[in-house]
Amino acid sequence: MGPGWKVGRLAGIELSIHPSWLVIAFLVTYSLAESQFPRQFPGWSGSEYWVVAGATAALFFGSVLAHELSHALVARRFGLKVEGITLFIFGGATSIDSDSRTPREEALIAIAGPATSLAIGAALVGIDLFVEQPQIGALVGWLGVINIALGAFNLIPGFPMDGGRVLRALLWRLRGDRLVATRNAALVGRITAYLLIAIGVFLAFRPGGLFSGLWLALIGWFLSNAAEATMAQAGVERSLRGVRVRDAMDPTPPSVSPNESVSDLVHERMLRGEDRSYLVLHDDGGLAGVVTLKDVRRLPQDDWPGARVTDIMTRYADLATIGPDEPLADALRLIEERSVSQLPVLVEPDRVPAGLVTRRGILRLIDARMKLGL
Ligand SMILES: [Zn+2]
Repeated sequence: MGPGWKVGRLAGIELSIHPSWLVIAFLVTYSLAESQFPRQFPGWSGSEYWVVAGATAALFFGSVLAHELSHALVARRFGLKVEGITLFIFGGATSIDSDSRTPREEALIAIAGPATSLAIGAALVGIDLFVEQPQIGALVGWLGVINIALGAFNLIPGFPMDGGRVLRALLWRLRGDRLVATRNAALVGRITAYLLIAIGVFLAFRPGGLFSGLWLALIGWFLSNAAEATMAQAGVERSLRGVRVRDAMDPTPPSVSPNESVSDLVHERMLRGEDRSYLVLHDDGGLAGVVTLKDVRRLPQDDWPGARVTDIMTRYADLATIGPDEPLADALRLIEERSVSQLPVLVEPDRVPAGLVTRRGILRLIDARMKLGL
């Protein structure tokens, strides 16, 4: 999904729009102006259809935002850190920093979105009964129906949809194990996804159903990917249960001095062994940064002899690091989040590294543990 454009803050929560959302904005406006409204309300002028459609699409944006914002606000009530809301092609996503701590919190955060959509939808459908002006009636009526659809659709019990999160919370509460609950909820999510794809393909072959059918199938495909990723993640976390960073780190990682020339780094080290990343250590053993093959590649070859490691390394202040007693699963998550290949292991506030944990090392350990049935 990617980060998208940051467009501002709402109630202290950062809001981003992924470029793919523009597709939705266009499709909603276009289909309302050219098909839905002319069929439902004949006799308006062409520009009236487009103006009402544009306003409706803008308010639809507001509806999805209200749904996501309610997830975020409830999460924040429980003291969880909300990183932001991103609107993208299949709706919205609220990223919450830490996993919710109890089944009850999880369920309440999940249900907040659909509850808000259903409430907005019911209110608008009610208001629509009293609206006399046809253009405003068209706008309010469509938004009412779409909010109810948004709420109902999200209640489908396939993880990672909201209904799936509620299901996970229920299973978690019943069985007492979050990881097993996640796997089971994701499995239901996968089955739901295949059903959506099947219904979508079926609809696509019916007269006039091509667009909505394909759309449903696409959402199903997206869901099945998300469910699969969730299952893989749960499998990894399960296999790494109880494993700490110190169990997987290299306690004597390769290191270089910040003053070494880049040319020496390449010829004396990188081209001789299989190490591609090095801790950069001051004379007193304190961590100055990390230098990798990628950093070298950014520098033109002609500049290698004249440049020093300190010129190209990632500096200490910009490094992601982890403690030796943290869960190894957290290290892997951090590595994925920061798109790095390794993390220096530090005992705060000491800057002398205790070791280095690499993505490759963790993946090999997971592989070994899974093969050994651990
Ligand atoms: Zn939701």
